[in-house]
Amino acid sequence: GPAPEGDSEARAWLARHKGAFGHFINGGFVASASGKTFDSFEPATGALLAKLALGGREDVDAAVAAARKAQGPWAKLSGHARARHLYALARMIQRHARLIAVVEALDNGKPIRETRDIDIPLAARHFYHHAGWAQLQETEFGDQMPVGVVGQVIPWNFPFLMLAWKVAPALALGNTVILKPAEFTPLTALLFVELASAAGLPPGVLNVVTGEGETGALIVEHDDIDKIAFTGSTEVGRLIRERTAGTGKSLTLELGGKSPFIVFDDADIDAAVEGVVDAIWFNQGQVCCAGSRVLVQEGVAPLFHERLKRRMGTLRVGHPLDKAIDMAAIVAPVQLQRIESLVSQGVTEGAALYQPQIELPKGGSFYPPTLLTAVQPTSVVATEEIFGPVAVSMTFRTPEEAIQLANHSRYGLAASVWSETIGLALHVAAKLAAGVVWVNATNLFDASSGFGGKRESGFGREGGKEGCYEYLKPKAWVGWKLRTEI
Ligand code: NAD
Repeated sequence: GPAPEGDSEARAWLARHKGAFGHFINGGFVASASGKTFDSFEPATGALLAKLALGGREDVDAAVAAARKAQGPWAKLSGHARARHLYALARMIQRHARLIAVVEALDNGKPIRETRDIDIPLAARHFYHHAGWAQLQETEFGDQMPVGVVGQVIPWNFPFLMLAWKVAPALALGNTVILKPAEFTPLTALLFVELASAAGLPPGVLNVVTGEGETGALIVEHDDIDKIAFTGSTEVGRLIRERTAGTGKSLTLELGGKSPFIVFDDADIDAAVEGVVDAIWFNQGQVCCAGSRVLVQEGVAPLFHERLKRRMGTLRVGHPLDKAIDMAAIVAPVQLQRIESLVSQGVTEGAALYQPQIELPKGGSFYPPTLLTAVQPTSVVATEEIFGPVAVSMTFRTPEEAIQLANHSRYGLAASVWSETIGLALHVAAKLAAGVVWVNATNLFDASSGFGGKRESGFGREGGKEGCYEYLKPKAWVGWKLRTEI
């Protein structure tokens, strides 16, 4: 296997912790009160990567108490003083970018090319962006108060980027945080909070409690938390909505998707083929807004599928730390099995399966780039989120049919439209049920643009000014100036 740059630094960091981590509460690492642990594995090899503390009630209580104590003083800082902290965190990410990128690739199994060029720089960008909002707090949000103590539960597909999306706005606007990373990918959150503490973030402002779903549920149900921000599956999102109903907690949910990728006859076919690569093979398709439903206009479908298959044959699947590969490992064996079972269900339901003859590495969880054509719109693979490198393709005749097919989903996260006729693209884009529509592009994100879903993809926005309001509560100051005359 390759001997990638940065690997030794990451191994040294793990060795310094003797491969075992506690929660990070009130400025330091602490073991679970119960002494219980769980393991995190390297998806690419199946090897044990680290032992983690399994968070129980006492640990969550301790983290909430630390966050509560820190919240008043943190909120009392001027926006400018908090901005200085956020700028320091952004610079800290850039300074340690290589270490973070390698740890992320090892823990999640995604290609280093992606963590290096996308996940980590975008995370730094989020801290810079929100430092700017902190700087402007008094002028832009003068009539708003921080929500308070926030519980944040995040998934494994973009562990570091999801941390940034959640932590940066919360801290910028005067909240303190208890963050629970996903059980498959806890390491970059622990690395981040360790580095953040060294960069001067006060104790208790950001606490990380590691654990499984049950630990997340303890956070969701904790009495002294003012808001829950969740990114993950629609099923767990629904549960959290039930559990927080009637509690007075604020809630934002970023959930699943089954996003349409619509290719019209007059599209730039080669660009659209490259678009599919970014839409569904980026991060092995483990992307909430993945363009997983490829809808192709009938006249161009044979040519489009032929070119797409040819391109699939040139994709390289390999070790995450190999800089020359396009795809790496699936996060865990259980996810791999889910993908395999959904694909075989699709074939049973009549879809045509195409997988290029490419070599997969041995030992870890790997799955080839996959295309299912001749898919029925009501079949399981056309409606369920596969969350793997599987493009599901259907054809349509007219723009109206494309819109109808695209909106035939319980989700509404993202959509992508490919046409050289701008009038057609904009007409279709306006009618799609999605939180974001890309035209002749896909999977583009920026800290200044609010991201979030419609329908069962959730509610609330992350990024931009609208994302800031999710961490603020309006407060009307009336009193002796109150007038009732009209
Ligand atoms: P998941 O819902 O199983 O887990 C997400 C997090 O919730 C994990 O930290 C997990 O430990 C925790 N959790 C599990 N059960 C819980 C419970 N009962 N109470 C509280 N917390 C609980 O999802 P996943 O498999 O980690 O992530 C994949 C899903 O996330 C996909 O459906 C994907 O579309 C979605 N996702 C959405 C976005 C978005 O912004 N909309 C982004 C990334 C991922």
